[in-house]
Amino acid sequence: MSRRGELDAIVVGAGAVGGAIALALARDGFEVALIEAREPKPWRAEDDVDLRVVALAPDARDLLHDLGVWTSIASARIGPYRRMRVWDALAPGELAFDAADRGEAALGWIVENKLIQHVLWSALVPDREDQKAAIPGRTFHKNSTLRVYCPAEIAEIDNGVNAVTATLTDGTRLRAKLLVAAEGAESSVRAKLGIAFEGGDYDQRAVVAHVATERAHEGTAWQRFQPGGPLAFLPLADGRCSIVWSLPDAEAARILALDDAAFRAELGCAFDFRLGAVTASTPRAAFPLRLRLAEKYVAGRCLLAGDAAHVVHPLAGQGMNLGFRDARALHATLRAARERGSDIGATHVLRRYERERRSENTLAAQGLDAIERAFGSAFMPLAVARGAGLAAANAIAPLRQALADTAAGRH
Ligand SMILES: Cc1cc2nc3c(=O)[nH]c(=O)nc-3n(C[C@H](O)[C@H](O)[C@H](O)COP(=O)(O)OP(=O)(O)OC[C@H]3O[C@@H](n4cnc5c(N)ncnc54)[C@H](O)[C@@H]3O)c2cc1C
Repeated sequence: MSRRGELDAIVVGAGAVGGAIALALARDGFEVALIEAREPKPWRAEDDVDLRVVALAPDARDLLHDLGVWTSIASARIGPYRRMRVWDALAPGELAFDAADRGEAALGWIVENKLIQHVLWSALVPDREDQKAAIPGRTFHKNSTLRVYCPAEIAEIDNGVNAVTATLTDGTRLRAKLLVAAEGAESSVRAKLGIAFEGGDYDQRAVVAHVATERAHEGTAWQRFQPGGPLAFLPLADGRCSIVWSLPDAEAARILALDDAAFRAELGCAFDFRLGAVTASTPRAAFPLRLRLAEKYVAGRCLLAGDAAHVVHPLAGQGMNLGFRDARALHATLRAARERGSDIGATHVLRRYERERRSENTLAAQGLDAIERAFGSAFMPLAVARGAGLAAANAIAPLRQALADTAAGRH
């Protein structure tokens, strides 16, 4: 730790994004304190696949690989998908991507959120015995520059000119050059900083479940657009599919209340029986769908990352992927500043990160919003245009390639 006990960074939230940021910085020699409100539940192979899964893009895999945790994820339980098929309930035409066209083994991987968080947490707090004896302020990572405070939360922030000071609820004071808020959509740091978080509600919920189907999923991520919202079937490692069914609130409530047999029948129908009948299903859960964008990512020496900065519609599986891009960009920005001998928490340094990430995240959020609105319409001319659009996009190889590159985080 530097003079007067000053840290380089305080990272708040050890979800996928905060965990990745803390690990990237600590492995690169930055002095970091990580503050997490709740210790993540351990992932266990004998448990059923968790209902919260994400589709990770290749650049997210690259980041996790660089952090030294991808092998643990890949050897645990992941569902690679080699193909993607997107079509519309109200019009002909289909958009198809194939990893082989890109010379790659997979377009992405379906991974449990819990597994990603668990693997990152294990890398941050490697000694399980130490972890059990968790007390705030303990240095878990031997010979490392990282301290983990869990369970802990911030009571006050003094966002000063020369340093930021965070006071935890137990009175512990931490002083650092910068503070990263990565505590998800309900970020209390963002609220304390007075940063507006605006957007809208889709008045939709995503119903999720894992289902077995009559025919094999073929290692393909399937998505059917319907007037009420998109329905995705994502391939799991055990041969089942994880479904994400975006529906208007009232319709989601109705679907959640169906008995299993009726649910499976309606789901199979909504999916056009593309994989035959739905033969088994787990209990269902639902998540409200929102669009939220922070008016700015930087306030003095504090900054936002991941869902604390942006919440997007899950139709293209981008939320966590965007958060991982925040993590990579922030690490690169801070490392470059350190190499130049600059103050890594200076507002002009943090603004570089903001400029890079805010524009991309805003474009992604607005693009997903536009797609949701265009495909959510049952107005027939629009439906015909959509079908023609999918067919055209599919026929024009460079356009298809550009869409696939964007989804993969390669632009
Ligand atoms: C139905 C659905 C499907 C999705 N599918 C995909 C997909 O396919 N691909 C994709 O990329 N994204 C997807 N997403 C989005 C993705 O789940 C999120 O973008 C991602 O989990 C956000 O990660 P995060 O680390 O920013 O926040 P979170 O996962 O919310 O983590 C925040 C962390 O901060 C901690 N915390 C909270 N408050 C405090 C506090 N006050 N003090 C300290 N710690 C605190 C929490 O305990 C938690 O550990 C989907 C989302 C939904 C709803």
